[in-house]
Amino acid sequence: MFIEPRVGNDNHSSHKGWIEVICGSMFSGKTEELIRRLKRAKIARQKVEIFKPSTDKRYHELDVVSHDSNSIRSTPIGFAQDMLLLGGSCDVVGIDEAQFFDEGLAEVCVKLANSGVRVIAAGLDMDYLGKPFGPMPALMAVAEYVTKVHAVCVRCGDIANYSYRNAASEEQVLLGETDSYEARCRHCFTEGMKKKR
Ligand SMILES: [Zn+2]
Repeated sequence: MFIEPRVGNDNHSSHKGWIEVICGSMFSGKTEELIRRLKRAKIARQKVEIFKPSTDKRYHELDVVSHDSNSIRSTPIGFAQDMLLLGGSCDVVGIDEAQFFDEGLAEVCVKLANSGVRVIAAGLDMDYLGKPFGPMPALMAVAEYVTKVHAVCVRCGDIANYSYRNAASEEQVLLGETDSYEARCRHCFTEGMKKKR
């Protein structure tokens, strides 16, 4: 389990600000882990803002919603850049579905962290083809802390890090279509991809 280096305010106000990334496949509990960390920051009376890409229209427009409906209110925004204006005065900025943001995300997170904000971003590390997803690789590179969370392979029960798509669509993003995906381990993912060819 990730233990925060610091939760509340301390004397090193000039040393505040860092980046945490929570990543993994679908059904790995990324959002639950994001919510857990944000709730702890709130208990420590930190000013917390949560952003998600406005393309994510699943469930409620204003909530970061995890699959177990343990949710926190969030603000949908169009561009990563918007976070500089809206999140600059916060102690903690949470980002959900980070993989859907534009390539400017890493730079924005660095600016926020440099100005003293603790940034916690959750997102898919790989798309359904097993390729690095959007701005995630760059973000993971500049983060102090990267936590990979894992799902359980629905085929064999091993640790799963792939989001395998059953549907035939070629689009990278199939929002709200969780029924068409399975968490799979490396072996079962590769077997499935071979059969598709
Ligand atoms: Zn498996």
